[in-house]
Amino acid sequence: MANYDFAVVGGGLVGSAIAYGLSGAGHSVVVLDEGDVAYRASRGNFGLVWVQSKGLGMPNYSDWSQSSSTLWQELAPELEALTGIDVQHRRPGGVHICHTEQEWRERRRTMENLAAQTSGRFRFDMLDHAALASLVPAIGDDVFGASWTEMDGHANPLYLLRALHAGVQKRGGHYCTGGPVRRVIRDGESFRLERDGQSIRSERVILAAGLGNRELAKQVGLEAPLSPNRGEVMITERVAPLLDIPTTYLRQTAEGSLQIGDSHEDVGMNDGTRTEVLAEIAQRALRAFPRLRDVRIVRTWGALRVMTPDGFPIYQASKTHPGAYLACCHSGVTLAAAHAMRLAPWIAGGASPQEIVPLTAERFDVRVPETA
Ligand SMILES: Cc1cc2nc3c(=O)[nH]c(=O)nc-3n(C[C@H](O)[C@H](O)[C@H](O)COP(=O)(O)OP(=O)(O)OC[C@H]3O[C@@H](n4cnc5c(N)ncnc54)[C@H](O)[C@@H]3O)c2cc1C
Repeated sequence: MANYDFAVVGGGLVGSAIAYGLSGAGHSVVVLDEGDVAYRASRGNFGLVWVQSKGLGMPNYSDWSQSSSTLWQELAPELEALTGIDVQHRRPGGVHICHTEQEWRERRRTMENLAAQTSGRFRFDMLDHAALASLVPAIGDDVFGASWTEMDGHANPLYLLRALHAGVQKRGGHYCTGGPVRRVIRDGESFRLERDGQSIRSERVILAAGLGNRELAKQVGLEAPLSPNRGEVMITERVAPLLDIPTTYLRQTAEGSLQIGDSHEDVGMNDGTRTEVLAEIAQRALRAFPRLRDVRIVRTWGALRVMTPDGFPIYQASKTHPGAYLACCHSGVTLAAAHAMRLAPWIAGGASPQEIVPLTAERFDVRVPETA
């Protein structure tokens, strides 16, 4: 039976980033991924490395996202040097478009609250139409304004996933598809992970299986209260440079395609698309960027976000099964750098990053008062 220091269950962006960090510190690492039949947010997302509006009500999460945005500037060149894959990370800042004055005022209030909660560590500007048009010349005349932060950016999420897989392997780790891990069993001082027809032993185990964590967490005395939230995305044909700066729902890829998205639907484990939703997404984008009128859509898809009840991540070490860890979040692109460079060292035995201390699932525990 193969024996590793660390087994990471789930080869999406979260598991792969953690495995990349662990393997860089010289540990023997295996990533066990279910394979092509699985639901995979990592293969259907929007590619933003986004700090704006992250962490309202949980300032630590804003700090954690900001830290990751900074570390991305090390991660991207490091991955390229190691694997030859340019993940197309750019940090030109980002805008959240406000179509009406009311939206703009509400956005300003949200941004001000976030800045106040983080004692000013989160910095932003509110742009009126003229200021926005000087940054984003293609913006439509009836857009009122936008919020802006300099820390926002974007990357190619598929190249990122590929680079992380390649990076793990270049650093001596193993990436194994071939069916789900069905059981995680504490066996003496280590763990035994069982897949159909295969057992793997490891000293520590990290559950990073996206929505699959719901079932796996229970096996190591943890809880992963996750639900799927569908987002639909469309891709256009390649067009001449239109947009240097990513927005919450429209960005131009390095190849020239426009990626348009940002729907939120509660539809269970259904990663399909609906024409009405796609039409709404297209109309909003057209209103903001009238020049898109003649651009052709070439592809659409739906994918399921990995959502916790409050939208913040869960990172937790098991008390009942020492050596088992849980990692779930809905911003796996944004947080990839923090996962590789700060979460992995904690799992390997280092001090916990201060920002993640409140991010266990224990925050969802509700004490029901005893009745007489
Ligand atoms: C439409 C959409 C847009 C998004 N946009 C952004 C964005 O702009 N920026 C951003 O930061 N984030 C974004 N996200 C979120 C981001 O994609 C996710 O946070 C991230 O992909 C989660 O990664 P994950 O590895 O936890 O989960 P997944 O990508 O779902 O991967 C989980 C993996 O676990 C495997 N697995 C499951 N069960 C088992 C098992 N029992 N045994 C072995 N393997 C198992 C699956 O095969 C899968 O590969 C978006 C998500 C969606 C859906």
